[in-house]
Amino acid sequence: MRIAVPAESDKNETRVAATPETVKKFKALGAEVIVQSGAGTASGFADADYVAAGASIAESAAGAVDNAEIVLRVRRPSAAEVAGAARGAAVVAIVDPFGHEKELQQLAASGVAAFAMELMPRITRAQAMDVLSSQANIAGYRAVIDAAAEYGRAIPMMMTAAGTVPAAKFFVMGVGVAGLQAIATARRLGAIVSATDVRPATKEQVESLGAKFIAVENDEFRQAETGGGYAKEMSPEYQAAQAELVSAHIAKQDIVVTTALIPGRPAPKLISAAMARSMRAGSVIVDLAAERGGNCELTKPGEIVIDSGVKIVGAVNLAGRLPATASSLYAKNLLAFVETLISKETKTLAIDWQDELVKATALTRDGAVIDPRFAPKA
Ligand code: NAD
Repeated sequence: MRIAVPAESDKNETRVAATPETVKKFKALGAEVIVQSGAGTASGFADADYVAAGASIAESAAGAVDNAEIVLRVRRPSAAEVAGAARGAAVVAIVDPFGHEKELQQLAASGVAAFAMELMPRITRAQAMDVLSSQANIAGYRAVIDAAAEYGRAIPMMMTAAGTVPAAKFFVMGVGVAGLQAIATARRLGAIVSATDVRPATKEQVESLGAKFIAVENDEFRQAETGGGYAKEMSPEYQAAQAELVSAHIAKQDIVVTTALIPGRPAPKLISAAMARSMRAGSVIVDLAAERGGNCELTKPGEIVIDSGVKIVGAVNLAGRLPATASSLYAKNLLAFVETLISKETKTLAIDWQDELVKATALTRDGAVIDPRFAPKA
């Protein structure tokens, strides 16, 4: 069984889908692993490290993918990039199918079975495969590091002979995986931290990290969490009350990290232009929701906007800014999933199409898009 690890074709992608550590584990499962030369360079893994772990190196992507039964990627490959793979090969990646139905159909037509890791159900059995959590955790950490670097003042309180430096006030909006890590990181830097979310469960989590919880805690708030643990889209009335509370609070903050998302919807707009401008010059907003439309009205994805002296950072692929750590965790997520696709007896690809993890993540099979959400409309 051949497992291919081609280099990422997106020049901005610094992560890699397998590390020398996971290559060793795949070898132990009886697989042959072929890594494209340079695939791990941006993450700090040299070709020689992969060879030492038992992989062979291919000079080109086509050479790596040739006859592979499993192709591991960070981002969705094009159909051409998997053209040489074995018929029915499993392509495992963050496929990002929403709005990319055409690319998905082309991938299906190439005969591979594409699995979207980001659609993995958040159940106990799949915890080790949860790429959303592994990458959001790093993004939350990196957002605080970036915010601190952009901020022209110190974060912790300093008492010096030349005077006292006050601690920075940090406000985290959206307390999922990324937000919790942002709170913990800001606290470690010595900031005074507050946070908000619409899900009641987050109150205790915020307080257990030593931060202050701020939210409109009405009846709608008490019912804002879906059965799946995600936030609902809030009513215009709730949003207005939330905006009033936030606008009074935000004017007194030095750094704001926003991470608020609603599955399948544009990111909620939590910071109006006026609210951002009410912060004092030199303040920083890092918007982790930039790629989904942004939580701040002034956000531009991939850019730092300076408005009234306030820096608004439109954060994109923050996990990729910590490529070695992000790749290590991502590669382990893939290993945990791929193990379920391999037969221990025959040591070959043996996809159980009835497995709930397979059902939730499989997008293409036998030439067709099998997830009705992305299939061509009749
Ligand atoms: P997410 O990325 O979907 O959203 C980030 C946060 O934004 C969420 O906490 C959400 O409540 C919040 N938000 C949405 N609208 C908002 C608004 N208008 N104002 C303020 N905040 C708003 O979230 P996530 O990090 O993917 O986590 C979602 C849930 O999944 C959480 O309950 C988390 O604990 C849970 N989870 C479970 C598992 C597991 O069981 N294996 C793993 C990871 C996360």
